[in-house]
Amino acid sequence: MRILLHACCGPCLLEPYDALAEGTEVAVCYANPNIAPAEEYVRRRDTLRAYAADAGIVVTELPYEPQRWAEAVAGAGDDRAARCRACYELRIGMVATEAARCGYDAVATTLTVSPYQDPVAIREAGEAACARAGIRFLPTDFRERYPEATRRSRALGMYRQNYCGCAPSAVEADRDRAQRRAARASQRRDTLPQDADPGRHQR
Ligand code: SF4
Repeated sequence: MRILLHACCGPCLLEPYDALAEGTEVAVCYANPNIAPAEEYVRRRDTLRAYAADAGIVVTELPYEPQRWAEAVAGAGDDRAARCRACYELRIGMVATEAARCGYDAVATTLTVSPYQDPVAIREAGEAACARAGIRFLPTDFRERYPEATRRSRALGMYRQNYCGCAPSAVEADRDRAQRRAARASQRRDTLPQDADPGRHQR
């Protein structure tokens, strides 16, 4: 079987590629018009390409058309789950069209290695997109390999982004981090003994 594997970035490629490539021919397709800004798109792509070159992995890049992503998710409004589903469907659909054109047998995605993504939505979006292109979607769930993917990407010194990819996700990630920091600070204040309350020493 020949698989065209949609990959979102270098760190997420490591484990899914190894899992799929055992006894199967796998090529990689970088199709990510969701990523903003353009410099970030290039940085993720070049990280992936550098690893792939070292590992002898074939990579195809599809055109970077952020407007296409904006149009695909426009109907989702403020609904993040709907936005992500449309985003998955667009990206996997791009890879599915390329795979059908080039005679691959199936399409898969690295997205399910991330515990921050929704594997059910990815599967549904992947199946819908691949059905339209007339190619098989290979459902996967690589989440148990995420700790190893994290360890390997750190050991390799890979660039590791701190947001999913689109502009709204950068804002959401900043907000989530601020909320976690505030929660930790509040927890620390609650566990301080009264004598150690720094506010009391300032009076
Ligand atoms: S958060 Fe990630 S999956 Fe969701 S729309 Fe943005 S880039 Fe796509």
